[in-house]
Amino acid sequence: MEKPSTVIVIFGATGDLAKRKLYPSIYNLYKKGQLSKKFAVVGVARRAWTNEIIRENVSASIKSEVEGDISDLDEFSNHFYYLPFDVTSKSSYHDLDNLINSLEDEYDIQGNRIFYMAMAPEFFGTIALNLKTEGVTNTKGWTRLVIEKPFGHNYDSAKKLNDEIREAFTEDEIYRIDHYLGKEMVQNIEVIRFANAIFEPLWNNRYISNVQITSSETLGVEDRGGYYENSGALRDMVQNHMLQMVSLLAMDPPIRLTTDEIRSEKIKVLRALRTIKGDKVEKYFVRGQYGPGKINNNEVPGYRSEDKVNPDSNTETFVAGKLMIDNHRWAGVPFYIRTGKRMKEKSTKIVIQFKELPMNLYYKNKETLHSNLLIIHIQPDEGISLTLNGKKLGPTGGTVPVRLDYRNDGIDGFNTPEAYERLLYDCMLGDATNFAHWDELDLSWNFIDAISEVWEKKSKKEPFLYPSGTMGPNESEDLLQENGHKWWPITKYELE
Ligand code: NAD
Repeated sequence: MEKPSTVIVIFGATGDLAKRKLYPSIYNLYKKGQLSKKFAVVGVARRAWTNEIIRENVSASIKSEVEGDISDLDEFSNHFYYLPFDVTSKSSYHDLDNLINSLEDEYDIQGNRIFYMAMAPEFFGTIALNLKTEGVTNTKGWTRLVIEKPFGHNYDSAKKLNDEIREAFTEDEIYRIDHYLGKEMVQNIEVIRFANAIFEPLWNNRYISNVQITSSETLGVEDRGGYYENSGALRDMVQNHMLQMVSLLAMDPPIRLTTDEIRSEKIKVLRALRTIKGDKVEKYFVRGQYGPGKINNNEVPGYRSEDKVNPDSNTETFVAGKLMIDNHRWAGVPFYIRTGKRMKEKSTKIVIQFKELPMNLYYKNKETLHSNLLIIHIQPDEGISLTLNGKKLGPTGGTVPVRLDYRNDGIDGFNTPEAYERLLYDCMLGDATNFAHWDELDLSWNFIDAISEVWEKKSKKEPFLYPSGTMGPNESEDLLQENGHKWWPITKYELE
C-alpha cells in the first residue's frame, strides 16, 4: 500500500467540517497505516488558537467521532500545528510558508503540500492567488488544492471562481470535492455495470423503462437557514450530487478505468442532457417547500418559520425532476430525480426499473407481474437488491415477487470508510477520478441555471408545500404518472 507523505494545510481549521469530517478521516487513514508517519497538518483560521488548543480539539473530535481503540491519539495529534491567519494579509502567507518549510525539515517531507479549503467560498479565490504570489506553492514536490462545495452559485460565479483558482493551480492540481463520489456504493455503480455480464447488455432503452434516484433527508435547514435561502435544493443537491449519479449511471463504458477516460464519458452524458428551460420547466420539474409536520412523532416547524429564513421565502427544499438524455442509448428513458429536506426517511437509493415482458403468461390468475427492479442502496444502508418474480409456494402456482439482497453490513460486517477518508487518500495519491472536473461543472451549472432562472422570476408560482415527514408534494407523483410510472417506495421494510 502506498503511504503518502505530505503537509496538509486546512483553511478553516476551527470550523464544523474540519471537526466532524476532516480530523476523523485523517486519523482513520493514520490508524489504518495508509498515511506515512512523515506527515503534518497545519490548521489555519482567524482565532488565536495555539498548537496545544488545536491538538485538544483534534483529540476531542476523534473521541466523539471514531469508535474503537484510540490509544495512539496523542502520538497522532502531535502532528498538528496551528497558525492564526488573515486570508488577505501577505504576511500570513509568509508565516505559513516558513512553518511548512520547518515542518518539511522536521518530518522529512519532500515538498508535497495539500491546501484544503474548508471555509466560506468567497475566500477560495483570494487564498489560491496569495498562495501562488507569496511562493507557498513553489516547492520541490507536488501541490494540490482541495475545494469544498458550493463551487459557485450559478455558471457565472462558478466560472469566476474557476478562473481565479486556475491562475494559481493547473486543472490537474485541483480536487473539487463532491462527497457523494467518495461513497462506497456510488463507486460501486461502475463495478455493478462494468464487471457483470448480466447487466451491461440490458443497460439501455431497449430493456430499461426508467431510472429513479432519491436522496431524502429528515433534517430541516437547522442553523444553515442563511446559506440555504440563497441556495435551495436545486443548487445544493441537484447541480452536484444528483447529476453526478446520473452521469455515472448513464455513461458509456470507458475504454479504461482511468481518470480521463471516465470523466470524458461522464461529460458526454451531461452534454446529451436535454436542456429544460422556459415553459418546459414546469413540465419537467417540481419544486416543493416543507410545511409543518411530524418527524418521528415530533412536531417540527415549516421552512418559513425556521431561523434566518424569510417568512415569505420561495426557496425550494424539495426538487423532483425528469431528465432526458438524448443519445442512442437512452432516448426515451426518463431519469427521475428527487431530493429534499424533512422527508419521511433519510435515504439515498437508485432504482432501475426494467421494461415489462412482451406478454404475461400468468395473467389467467389475474396476476400482474411485479416489475424487475435493480436497487442500489447508497445510504444509510449499502448494498444491491434485485426484485424478481418467483413461483408462489404450494400447488396453486402463480407468482410472487422475491427480492435478492446483498448488504455490505449484513454480509461481512465490513465498516465502509467515510467518503472524506477515501477522497483525502485519493488526493494524496494524485487520483482525481472521484472529483469533479471543471467541464462537468460548466455543463451542470448551465443546465441548472436554465431552471432557476424560471423559478426565480417573481411572477412564477410558489413552490408546492408538503407536510414535513412525507415524500414531498403530490405533484412529484404526477410527474411520473404522465409516463405511466410511479415512485417505488424507498422505505427499508417495504418490498420494493
Ligand atoms: P464554519 O463556519 O464552521 O467554519 C469556517 C472556518 O473558516 C472557521 O474555522 C473560521 O475561523 C474560518 N474563517 C472564516 N473567515 C475567515 C477569515 N477571514 N480568515 C481566516 N479564517 C476564516 O464552516 P464549515 O461548516 O466548516 O464549512 C466550511 C466549508 O465547507 C464551506 O465552504 C461549506 O460550504 C463547506 N462544507 C461544509 C460541510 C459541513 O458538513 N460542515 C459539508 C459540505 C461542505
